[in-house]
Amino acid sequence: MEQETQELRRVGLKVTHPRMRILQIFDEEEGNHLTAEDVYKKLLAHQEDIGLATVYRVLTQFEAAGIVVKHNFEGGQAVYELDRGKHHDHMIDVDSGKVIEFVSEEIERLQREVAARHGYVIEDHSLVLYVRPKNRGTRKG
Ligand SMILES: [Zn+2]
Repeated sequence: MEQETQELRRVGLKVTHPRMRILQIFDEEEGNHLTAEDVYKKLLAHQEDIGLATVYRVLTQFEAAGIVVKHNFEGGQAVYELDRGKHHDHMIDVDSGKVIEFVSEEIERLQREVAARHGYVIEDHSLVLYVRPKNRGTRKG
């Protein structure tokens, strides 16, 4: 509770029940990537009567305040995660929609080299790999 209260105050947001609870959902698991609907369902599971519209509104406020980052991955709903200020890239399991984080120093270096070759320095980048489990084969289902 204390941690969430401080975080909200730090970014200048008033401490309200929905904001507290939604922030707690993200704090529960390190590296959570959640859609607004995921957050809504988790709140329901905690017997919280917070509507989906409120969840969307709070997430938008959190995004503006820099508490969360929003990703628009292909073929899915927007996904939110806590902004931990650490760069990482993402893999999306196209079967399950699962989001996997990774960092590859080699890829980072290659990207800098490619940009440099074109006379640029990288300002920012995001890399998303759309993957499917290796062992799944070609079977459907
Ligand atoms: Zn992430």
